[in-house]
Amino acid sequence: MNIKKQGDLWAPDSRSLYSSSTEIKQQDGFSVVSGPVAVGKGTLCDMVITKAQGKVKRTVSYTTRAPLKGEKHGEHYYFVDREIFEDMISLNLFLEYALVHGNYYGTVTKQIEKAQKIGKDVLLEIDVQGAMKVKEKIPYATYIFIMPPSMDVLKDRLIRRKRGDTDIELRLANAKKEIAQAELYDYIVINDDLDTAFRELYGIIMTPDKTR
Ligand code: 5GP
Repeated sequence: MNIKKQGDLWAPDSRSLYSSSTEIKQQDGFSVVSGPVAVGKGTLCDMVITKAQGKVKRTVSYTTRAPLKGEKHGEHYYFVDREIFEDMISLNLFLEYALVHGNYYGTVTKQIEKAQKIGKDVLLEIDVQGAMKVKEKIPYATYIFIMPPSMDVLKDRLIRRKRGDTDIELRLANAKKEIAQAELYDYIVINDDLDTAFRELYGIIMTPDKTR
């Protein structure tokens, strides 16, 4: 595998990434959250993680998209170039990966195994394509879709968030496609009022109803 310097960023040490994907435990405490761009899923997941006080670990994905202002390598994402990402694919390091808005995003299997080994619950915040790939491998996990109250509200939030996104139309088109697949999830949480949505999401993640 190539280890390269990319600007200020070093690609990861591959040795810490190897794993056999069969080691992920089929147990409670595994949640997968998706939702369209700007729906607030990142904020909601941050709130869950804070409230859970160390019990829940969110994986840090790898991506080929460029870091936005304020984003840190290893904290928000591992930012790697396409060649490295494709090497990682061929080495079978991902539980899932997908092309989202023209860039690769992927979840490394090893991160999940490590979290489970130290007794943490796992939270993945990934797109619908990735979530459905995970569902094939880990059907017992809890799948939650965060829904906007309306498309108009979503568009407004996307335009107002000023995160530096340059591909607003592409992201909105993708949002519509994702919303159309919400029924594939176990739960849909509507993020109209943030506190209400947070309480609902927290309850589902901490005590999913396995009889559903
Ligand atoms: P953003 O560029 O806005 O940070 O993320 C774009 C989309 O990629 C979001 O829907 C986010 O949930 C999704 N995403 C982030 N990490 C992963 C990942 O590891 N796998 C997949 N499939 N999607 C991801």
